[in-house]
Amino acid sequence: MSSVNISIVGAGSAVFSMRLVSDLCKTPALSGSRVTLMDKDEERLRTVHVLARKLASELDYTIDFVATKNLEQAVEGADFVINTALVGGHAFLSEIREIGERHGYFRGIDSQEFNMVSDYYTLTNWNQLEFMLRLAKLVETRAPDAWLLLASNPVFEGTTLLNRHTQANIVGFCHGYLIIEEICRKLGIEFSETDWQVAGVNHGIWLNRFQYKGDEAYRRIRDEFSHSKKWAPSNPFDDSFSPAARVMLDFYGLMPIGDTVRNSSWAFHYDNETKERWYGEPWGGVDSAKGWQWYTDLLGFVVKMLRELSMILENEPDKSLKELLSNVSSALPEDLAGEVSTFFNPDLMSGEQHIPFINAIVNDEKARLVVNVLNKGTIHGLPDDIAIESPAIVSSAGIKMEEIYPHLPQRIIKWYLLPRILRMEWALEAFLNKDTSLITEVLFRDPRTKSREQAERAVSEVFKAAQKYH
Ligand code: NAD
Repeated sequence: MSSVNISIVGAGSAVFSMRLVSDLCKTPALSGSRVTLMDKDEERLRTVHVLARKLASELDYTIDFVATKNLEQAVEGADFVINTALVGGHAFLSEIREIGERHGYFRGIDSQEFNMVSDYYTLTNWNQLEFMLRLAKLVETRAPDAWLLLASNPVFEGTTLLNRHTQANIVGFCHGYLIIEEICRKLGIEFSETDWQVAGVNHGIWLNRFQYKGDEAYRRIRDEFSHSKKWAPSNPFDDSFSPAARVMLDFYGLMPIGDTVRNSSWAFHYDNETKERWYGEPWGGVDSAKGWQWYTDLLGFVVKMLRELSMILENEPDKSLKELLSNVSSALPEDLAGEVSTFFNPDLMSGEQHIPFINAIVNDEKARLVVNVLNKGTIHGLPDDIAIESPAIVSSAGIKMEEIYPHLPQRIIKWYLLPRILRMEWALEAFLNKDTSLITEVLFRDPRTKSREQAERAVSEVFKAAQKYH
């Protein structure tokens, strides 16, 4: 048993924090650890502090919790720092999107080919990239042996940037690959009996290997597509078997996994009607106006509910969190109710990989995890110094990337990954030089741009508005 110091930065991302605390409480080998919750928002910090302490106490697990608004204090002495902060929050994302739309950029100027995911901005959220870099530099100097685990988006740009510009130990995580389990359920096969591998960059990963009980299983995916009738998603995120996924499978030769289906070309995203056609009615995927409203309403609901629960517990500390949660669970959407019930189930981890990673490093409990690290030859045909996402075996010896077998097809390398990588390079160069003219240059290559003036006006207004979100 080894106790360690874990800091969660941006801990007010309450869902993330509750998942992490609950996972920790189910990991006896890390009992006695100290968790520092850091957030700049007083109220969110208090909420998560109250709930996390209560959850640990009801799960009968020993953790020492500290809450702080001071970033340096959170980093000092840490063994692991998990970054879940979103600088500017969802208010920043909506304001910047609205400005873009006023200038003729449907879904905002950050919605770009192979990068349509709405909860992070690679071109305009310099505050987020700045914060990631500042945190990584603090880790490098104040806790040089610590690991910095990046959960905040953009994971691809962020992991690449921090690895290139600091000496800290950086690893990025995304839970998007877990969709493979859902794909298996849909195909009626046991996930545990499959041999799978994914490769690519974050939100651009492809199922390069998929076998079931030793037999090739891609046939089952193709059969599922050919048998399915009119596509009717169960929620805006449900897109694995959408018409967009089918066309991507046909064109690229492999199944796009998780957020990759959203991160497609303009052909699927010109307008709401196009989105509905390819991702299904009524939402047109989660990145449409309707889909995004669904998601932000859900987030708002969760934040409000957790705040109310923490206030009840502050006034009546003897009340049971488990009971309070089960009382509200009938009002929760199905997925959320299912997730909340896992908090107290000792046999169910959240699916987030942060605590299994820490346990593997600290206690040598080997784990196969999907990580974001610099390529260094793992994926053939991609540069060495970009962050890739694929499985690795993690142990006290560190991260050992799996050999990618079979290799990704050239179609994916040349028509998806290299163009996406180029866009990451453009975004990082603009950020590092604080050069907004490079963002305008990106818009000159954007099918929505009809004139130089349109691009220049949009960029100028966006960066003016962004200043207030420091
Ligand atoms: P959120 O806005 O609800 O939470 C972010 C938290 O960061 C807030 O509590 C906020 O107060 C805090 N914060 C903002 N600026 C800060 C600063 N300067 N210092 C400290 N704390 C600060 O956002 P969310 O929806 O929970 O998402 C959080 C992040 O996680 C986003 O970047 C999102 O894209 C990412 N995300 C990642 C995954 C993944 O699998 N990797 C999945 C979902 C979301």
